[in-house]
Amino acid sequence: MGLEEHIKHVQAGIAEAARAAGRDPASVTLLAATKTQSSDTIRAAIAAGITACGENRVQELTAHLAEDAYRGAELHFIGHLQTNKVKYVVGKVALIHSVSSDKLLRAIAAQADKLGLVQDILLEINLAGEASKSGFAPEEAPAAARLAAALGGVRLRGLMCIPPVARHSGENFHHFRALRQLAVDIRREMVDNNRDMDVLSMGMSGDYRDAVAAGSTCVRVGSALFGPRPSVPPEG
Ligand SMILES: *Cc1c(COP(=O)(O)O)cnc(C)c1O
Repeated sequence: MGLEEHIKHVQAGIAEAARAAGRDPASVTLLAATKTQSSDTIRAAIAAGITACGENRVQELTAHLAEDAYRGAELHFIGHLQTNKVKYVVGKVALIHSVSSDKLLRAIAAQADKLGLVQDILLEINLAGEASKSGFAPEEAPAAARLAAALGGVRLRGLMCIPPVARHSGENFHHFRALRQLAVDIRREMVDNNRDMDVLSMGMSGDYRDAVAAGSTCVRVGSALFGPRPSVPPEG
């Protein structure tokens, strides 16, 4: 299968999982996780029907932007973001999925203020308490949401999670349900902000069907579209 067939296959999987859960397939965005891909591959994915791209690394984002690779698609940031690099991301992407600390939240809000814009964001939640991953603990999330609501430069759109890699289907379903419930609880508490909180970013190549079944509105899929990636060292 080539890229186009992979995209069709994943789109069909999303639609099937959505219908099985009584959901409208159009309520789920397929976000292509484009890390390590070339600008030409990104352009080919967009030509084949991808409407949203997610980048992990500031360096790749900047390089692809310079080559106008994302034309025709919405651009999101989904990777670990260091506070000293927010200036390369804020105002350049429609949504930052990976806001993982109060410090980062404040830095994004400050940069957005400086640019005179409002940056849409998600809070990244470390559901399984994995030491290797960033993100707010579930019990920290309501306070982070209140902070986001109090800061002028950001608009909280929802929650995101990266659970452990699923080894078999169904394995991460309970994590996805937990993220959905956390979003419901926060939304209920934040009466002023509840209309804006409509995004649940969850599900990757190995578990996007389970994520859709549990209520995902945005699955971030890389290898199921582009094939396996070479391993890359973390960004310094
Ligand atoms: C790479 C990546 C994905 C996609 O992973 P696959 O398993 O290749 O689908 C999703 N979310 C984030 C944050 C990623 O870094």
